[in-house]
Amino acid sequence: MTQRRPLIAANWKMNGSVELVEQASASLNSLAVSAAEILICPPVIFLSQFPKSDKYKLGGQNVSSERSGAFTGEISADMLRAAGAEYVIIGHSERRALFAETDAVVLAKTKQAISAKLTPIVCFGETLIERQQEKTMQVLAQHLDAVYAAHPELLRHSVIAYEPVWAIGTGETATPEQAQQVHAFIRSHLSQYDKEAALQVRIIYGGSVNAENCAALFAQPDIDGGLVGGASLKPAEFAAICLSAQD
Ligand code: PEP
Repeated sequence: MTQRRPLIAANWKMNGSVELVEQASASLNSLAVSAAEILICPPVIFLSQFPKSDKYKLGGQNVSSERSGAFTGEISADMLRAAGAEYVIIGHSERRALFAETDAVVLAKTKQAISAKLTPIVCFGETLIERQQEKTMQVLAQHLDAVYAAHPELLRHSVIAYEPVWAIGTGETATPEQAQQVHAFIRSHLSQYDKEAALQVRIIYGGSVNAENCAALFAQPDIDGGLVGGASLKPAEFAAICLSAQD
């Protein structure tokens, strides 16, 4: 039986403050959640403001596809690591839609992250139109192939986030059954690259996860935690979500 330790990851996006850093770290430091790994991905400027803790890990929300050089405004994987990050979110739908990130860019960033010993949380998800046209699995297969087909070795070092675009920041959540169906599809699709890695890889769900809906989502056999946006900005609610992964 494969044991995958759940990952509950907070994506603060371009939100937060020094005060929130203090509140979030105090809140998580008072929790006893040994069954799950807790991760906070704040804006990069706040990474070094988080006190060191064995209760949570830190991650970036983005990383450069380049190692170093004349790329004004970019932050490299080595720099994220030096600032305390152990993970980095890659290919979030906001990056794909608003910053024109292609699958090729997602692949390059994934490689950079892994070579700096960061664990990439690589995001995939269908739009509302794609779901309505019943193209969810086809679209996901295409995006997964673009990253992993030629580089199956990356899978062993990755976390996958299934984030249906229509559920992000909308208050609309995939039902636990809908999410489970897609997670199971992703796992079985990935098994063609590497059977063992597909069994081991954590596939987390993102899209309007909150304290009310998290338990039913996390109870699904192929859902290994969550990527939490809006609700992660409320320390008490995020704590409740983390605690629910403990049950
Ligand atoms: C996200 O930003 O990854 C996300 C899932 O946001 P929200 O929880 O607000 O839908």
